[in-house]
Amino acid sequence: MTNPSRVARPKSAAAFERATRSIPGGVNSPARAFGGVGGTPIIVKRADGPYLFDVDGYRYLDFIGSWGPMILGHRHPAVVEATIAAINNGSSYGAPCELETELAEMVVAAIPSVEMVRFVSSGTEATMSAIRLARGFTGRDLIVKFAGCYHGHVDSLLVSAGSSALTLGVPNSPGVPKGCTQDTLILQYNDVQELADFFAAKGGQIAGVILEPVVGNMGLIPPSAEFRKELRRLTHHHGSVLIYDEVMTGFRLSYGGAQELFGDTPDVTALGKIIGGGYPVGAYGGRADILKKVMPAGPVFQAGTLSGNPVAMAAGIATLRELKQNPPYQRLDQLTQQIATGITAAAKQYGHAHQLQRIGSMWTLFFANAPVTNYQTAVASDKQKFARFFWEMMDRGVYLPCSQFEAAFTCAAMTDEHLQETITAASDSLRAMAQV
Ligand code: PMP
Repeated sequence: MTNPSRVARPKSAAAFERATRSIPGGVNSPARAFGGVGGTPIIVKRADGPYLFDVDGYRYLDFIGSWGPMILGHRHPAVVEATIAAINNGSSYGAPCELETELAEMVVAAIPSVEMVRFVSSGTEATMSAIRLARGFTGRDLIVKFAGCYHGHVDSLLVSAGSSALTLGVPNSPGVPKGCTQDTLILQYNDVQELADFFAAKGGQIAGVILEPVVGNMGLIPPSAEFRKELRRLTHHHGSVLIYDEVMTGFRLSYGGAQELFGDTPDVTALGKIIGGGYPVGAYGGRADILKKVMPAGPVFQAGTLSGNPVAMAAGIATLRELKQNPPYQRLDQLTQQIATGITAAAKQYGHAHQLQRIGSMWTLFFANAPVTNYQTAVASDKQKFARFFWEMMDRGVYLPCSQFEAAFTCAAMTDEHLQETITAASDSLRAMAQV
């Protein structure tokens, strides 16, 4: 596809072309490759506060925030200071250190359903370990997942996955044997009847149900209250482990995540992104009787050379401390609401069928006629139109997720000025789209 941008970025183009010669597709994670919008990714030189700067010298207001972790914005002074201090004490020990316990205690204090927590190095590891634990704890094999939810690139969860698996149209990746996914059952998000029917038929065989309690990986989709309630009731009744994948929503929608916002109590929670403050950290935690099955406390194996890495722990601690001491959630909610209102008004003014879906600082502008509630309605939205909107915004210095099937994140480093900048850019973009 020819580059849809009207702005020349020769240095990014050359750097990306160079990358494609040694790295598959030029990227180390497919969502970055702009597959959903066409054209060439910008190559980032540095980041500061709410901004990214590319190698051509352009500045972008960053609504990706490393796909979620950078809720405080880039280079937050407290995080930088804590991280440098940790580095000066050595990068990795492969032995226990107090920073791990400190972050574990912070997570346990933040999320009432999490009585114990184990750190890993990515969200993928967190969900992979959580479902292994659910199976080990219950002695059952079946895992229920919802179409369009993304839980990392765990073999057995790479069926009907969202995020880049959806953007790139590979719901089932080659290389994942049938045997790996035959015990993963796919249901529709927000479909209470299907859920009830399925539990009625198979309840006693279901080890666990995993879901994004607010979906970010089909674009932003909220759960219905009835869906959440039924999930808890049915899993409890049938002795299945309810796993909230809060890799994206944890410490994002509130300090205690989506479950605090809704007042929910899952059995196990997967975490990542924000808890690492921009460094590679994931975690899974939950009921103590379940977590005590993890080796060496129990028989369920899980390990990691860099798990609980002191530098990453220090960045996580500094991030959570800042979020606890100066909670940005109310302001993020207001700021994002204003952005949503501004964009909605412009979309209406210029006659674009749209749904602006939002919870707190997570939001998506779908080019769709009706509310997006599940996989089917998400894929029915106008992806061509989204691609056009994405590039119009890029060319005006606003960096949105490069896919209709990803949520945008507002960060605490953004001010009213950035809000106005975003609304103006969106309004100009939507006007330009209406003209051609
Ligand atoms: N779960 C969810 C809800 C996610 O959004 C992601 C990543 N976007 C993951 C799991 C996987 O995390 P990671 O990319 O750190 O492996």
